[in-house]
Amino acid sequence: MKLAHFGLWTLPDHPEPPRPSGSPPLAWMSRNQPVSDLREWVFDLVAEDQAVRSQASACLLEKYFPDEDQNALLLRVGLRDIEEEPLPPPDDVRATERRPATIKRIVRDSALSRLIKTLHDHTCQMCGVRLLLPNGPYAEGAHIRPLGNPHDGYDVAGNLLCLCPNDHVLFDQGAIIVKDDLTVVNQLTGESRDALRTVPGHDVDRQHLTYHRNLY
Ligand SMILES: [Zn+2]
Repeated sequence: MKLAHFGLWTLPDHPEPPRPSGSPPLAWMSRNQPVSDLREWVFDLVAEDQAVRSQASACLLEKYFPDEDQNALLLRVGLRDIEEEPLPPPDDVRATERRPATIKRIVRDSALSRLIKTLHDHTCQMCGVRLLLPNGPYAEGAHIRPLGNPHDGYDVAGNLLCLCPNDHVLFDQGAIIVKDDLTVVNQLTGESRDALRTVPGHDVDRQHLTYHRNLY
């Protein structure tokens, strides 16, 4: 209803739909079952411009689905292919054979993490580096409060950062932490780095930053 009043959505059979507040619109919707669609220029914009699509998705997730498994939601509505990602550089097989104890990093790349990386144009929120591989830019989605046991972090946008691989490892291992004012601090030297870079549509949840700081 809000989209219709903002001129983004058409309700061709209903020139004057109810105001978008409270329960009347819900009752009106279920009574009338209106045929509706995005206006053509809005559809074109969302369909053709990945940045606009990502921002719209992030805003909707944050406003209406803050406590949902946002990655699962993106998959359910068919946004799994927000962007084709280049694969991280392959491991050096010979090196792995010589040193079987080599730590292998497995970076989860969910639909939600691709969305966040697109919002940041694959630019690290900590150092501003944008790695360019032969088949496109590369960044990693880093969960602030880790998923799964024993941390039980949430797969939501507010719990994700877009980082370069170096800062991702440093952050995951607690060598750097982020304060509530988004200052990035090197735990080993106590030095402050630049504040975390932010973009419209992606707010970092301070609760998760607190959780991460308490881990270290
Ligand atoms: Zn970085």
